[in-house]
Amino acid sequence: MDFLPLFHKLQDRLVLVVGGGEVALRKARLLADAGATLRVVAPEVRGDLRELAGQGANQLLLRGYQAGDMEGVALIIAATDDEPLNARISEQAQALGIPVNVVDAPKLCSVIFPAIVDRSPLIVAVSSGGDAPVLARLIRAKIETWIPATYGQLAGLAKHFRAQVKGLLPDVQQRRVFWEDVFQGQIAESVFAGKLHEAERLLTQKVAGAIPQALGEVYLVGAGPGDPDLLTFRALRLMQQADVVLYDRLVAPAIIELCRRDAERIYVGKQRSAHSVPQDQINQRLVTLAKEGKRVLRLKGGDPFIFGRGGEEIEELAAQGIPFQVVPGITAASGCAAYAGIPLTHRDYAQSVRFVTGHLKDGSCDLPWAEFTASSQTLVFYMGLVGLPVICQQLIAHGRAASTPAALIQQGTTSNQRVFTGTLANLPELVAQHNVHAPTLVIVGEVVQLREKLAWFEGAQAEV
Ligand code: SAH
Repeated sequence: MDFLPLFHKLQDRLVLVVGGGEVALRKARLLADAGATLRVVAPEVRGDLRELAGQGANQLLLRGYQAGDMEGVALIIAATDDEPLNARISEQAQALGIPVNVVDAPKLCSVIFPAIVDRSPLIVAVSSGGDAPVLARLIRAKIETWIPATYGQLAGLAKHFRAQVKGLLPDVQQRRVFWEDVFQGQIAESVFAGKLHEAERLLTQKVAGAIPQALGEVYLVGAGPGDPDLLTFRALRLMQQADVVLYDRLVAPAIIELCRRDAERIYVGKQRSAHSVPQDQINQRLVTLAKEGKRVLRLKGGDPFIFGRGGEEIEELAAQGIPFQVVPGITAASGCAAYAGIPLTHRDYAQSVRFVTGHLKDGSCDLPWAEFTASSQTLVFYMGLVGLPVICQQLIAHGRAASTPAALIQQGTTSNQRVFTGTLANLPELVAQHNVHAPTLVIVGEVVQLREKLAWFEGAQAEV
């Protein structure tokens, strides 16, 4: 993060604006909107800026900039077209420790202006750190269309009730739940529909009936195979409202980043010593946290109900009467197949697909190999890397042709994705040759040959 976004309180603070043209005017208007007192300095100042600088306690100095102009100011804007002057102002301001913004010269700035969506008191600021201001503006435009104009009214309504709710619900967590309910439910909808009185009535009612909630809940959420874009809307919403997040090795860091910033994050995957937190401890932890009244997010790679032991985790919750919900995710087979250009079924090559665990508990004997031999069937092995030599050997031994196409997809759907194709005969060699490591998915079947025509996603392939 190159810049830390902070919101600057400027009411009645003096701000120096050097420059008299259109750019200076734009900044001056924004500053005036934020309640600042302006000191505008320039030998020539356009009429509308002159008018603004003439209002209230604002000051207008029709002359060149002098170092003394910085005295007593909280913020400095250099908006002249004289580059050496802008640089000098920046240097002097920084020497004095006063925040300075030089318009269109990010290198000279100690603070920069974001693109702003103003729904006061709600304000959204978007910045690209000066690297791509147009992109920031486009994102702002998207957010503009996203946030109903009436959000400001909603925030105003909340402000009105804030102290009362705080008194009623001393626990910060209970308050968070209370307000999330307000902002996502009927009350918000009434504001958006222009029914402010109705919203106020409903909120009064809700405040009167607010009872502290003792029991938290658990969200068992599938995080998909890696690409954060593959999260569901619901997953994202719950990630942003949970108080605690329990995640394991398979969940990509870019996805964890999307969880609420101040949520507690607990890693329950394999430690360096290669021991995972035992499953029953995870189950128990979920129960304990929920009983403390927390909203607990159990984030799992892919889909929680596909080789994810999600069922075991919620069994305990169900037994203890703790509310929970399950959010499906895109499982590795779907994600990797799509990003590798390998359709799992195809009218000509495969009429069915089987998801198989490659984790061989008992050497080679514990899978129904004889059922895997039909050539019109795609096999997808999860956790199949360690047992790959046995898997290939057993498939061949049970009658699947050694020439059957097969693929290895490592870190599918992420920018590190690597795909290697071969046959049942040489797949284990490819692992050693290319140093393939977990997480890797194995796809076996005729459909693999379609990749030649259908590959579209590059990942790290180019570097291999
Ligand atoms: N619940 C998960 C699977 C957990 S089992 C899901 O639905 O996807 C773990 C196995 O999933 C790994 O050993 C690997 O075979 C596979 N896997 C998960 N994510 C993957 C990814 N991004 N790329 C390749 N394989 C992946």
